[in-house]
Amino acid sequence: MTTPRLRFAPSPTGYLHLGGARTALFNWLYARRQGGTFILRIEDTDAGRSSDEMVSGILDGLRWLGIDWDEGPEVGGPHAPYFQSQRLDRHRAAARDLVGRGLAYEDEGAIRFRVPAGRTTFVDSVHGPIEFDNEHIESFVILRSDTQPTYHLSVVVDDIDMRVTHVVRGDDHISNTPKQVLLYQALGAAPPAFAHVPLIMGPDKKRLSKRHGATSVMEYEKQGYLPEAMFNFLALLGWGTGSDDEIFTRDELIARFTLLGISGGNAVFNTEKLDWFNHQHLLRLDNDALISRLRGRLAAAGYWRDALDGADRDWFIRVLALLKPRAKTLNAFVEQVSPFFTEPLAYDGGGVKKHLSTAGMQAHVRSLRDAFAALDVWNEATLEQALRALADARGVKAGALIQAARLAATGRMVSPGLFEMLVLLGRDGVLGRLDRMMETVWSAATS
Ligand code: GLU
Repeated sequence: MTTPRLRFAPSPTGYLHLGGARTALFNWLYARRQGGTFILRIEDTDAGRSSDEMVSGILDGLRWLGIDWDEGPEVGGPHAPYFQSQRLDRHRAAARDLVGRGLAYEDEGAIRFRVPAGRTTFVDSVHGPIEFDNEHIESFVILRSDTQPTYHLSVVVDDIDMRVTHVVRGDDHISNTPKQVLLYQALGAAPPAFAHVPLIMGPDKKRLSKRHGATSVMEYEKQGYLPEAMFNFLALLGWGTGSDDEIFTRDELIARFTLLGISGGNAVFNTEKLDWFNHQHLLRLDNDALISRLRGRLAAAGYWRDALDGADRDWFIRVLALLKPRAKTLNAFVEQVSPFFTEPLAYDGGGVKKHLSTAGMQAHVRSLRDAFAALDVWNEATLEQALRALADARGVKAGALIQAARLAATGRMVSPGLFEMLVLLGRDGVLGRLDRMMETVWSAATS
């Protein structure tokens, strides 16, 4: 058996979106599983709509996902060039060859393929055998009157030249396939195996689009998703391993991948599921990996200091451990970690109104501050004991004091466990924040 050769052939008329990324990923997984070759070919024949910026956007998206190509832009290969716009002469020559052999003809300056009578069939790994009556296929243009080849001609000539053995692409291309199979036959080449992958739908069962949120892969990078989580999520969007497990590494997915596992039904994208995958992959990172993934984002937020990798590392690891159950993206970590790096700039308005607006509460919070200040030992147990004892003594709900302390510490109504957090903020940090809150909230209220 020849080594499989697969290609991803994006048109650089937009960024790499989720659907394209998943198509690339299925081709890549199959190539890697079979020890084959994965080719990247840029189909930039639509000069008006293609741009270098989009090409680099696509390369960046693939690289971010860890989808590397054996032949293509930047790496070259035996069938260069890998930009379709640089191969037009090959396509024109093929068109002339077909005319010369009577298989195509000129029509008002354009060249049309002469569709023979009969039926055209191919076997699709996802959908099974597919058959078209040639009567329904018009004699289609392969070279326009301005000598621009059409998509059908270019894609087939390039796939033949590049010895592509398997074409895995979106099932919006099924209706193009009989024309392409006819071209293969006319050009004397065996058609590749086809696998047409069902499209990705939004939760409303409509084709995934900007309406459903971000669609560019790099937008997810910006939002703090991990590439291995996105990879895992996309791989299982329309493909199943046959087991109930869902969390896989790249290598585990390669080891399991088959084209036959691709489902014929449309795959539905939903952000909650992606968040779940991301969270699972975040939880699997060890501390070094998590810190190095967060570092750039923390620096951008102004929180990074080198001691986090040195003297403060143990403290920082405890902070991260506290956030892990709730932070589902890298950005959520940065957002939730902020109270550990900066004092609150503002206090949740609803929280202030609910928990801090009475004179009684002002007195309770002042006593809480004094009780905390008097502690000999600063740990979760002593902090909790002090707060509960004070609540009992003053006849106030412990929950109200907890919310007041949470507001002081974070400015927010929601945070990780209060006492664990107070331990990590340290005595000076906590007392300072209680003072600051009392000043801010109550001086504003009385002035
Ligand atoms: N450039 C085409 C597209 O982006 C490629 C289709 C194919 O894989 O044949 O839709």
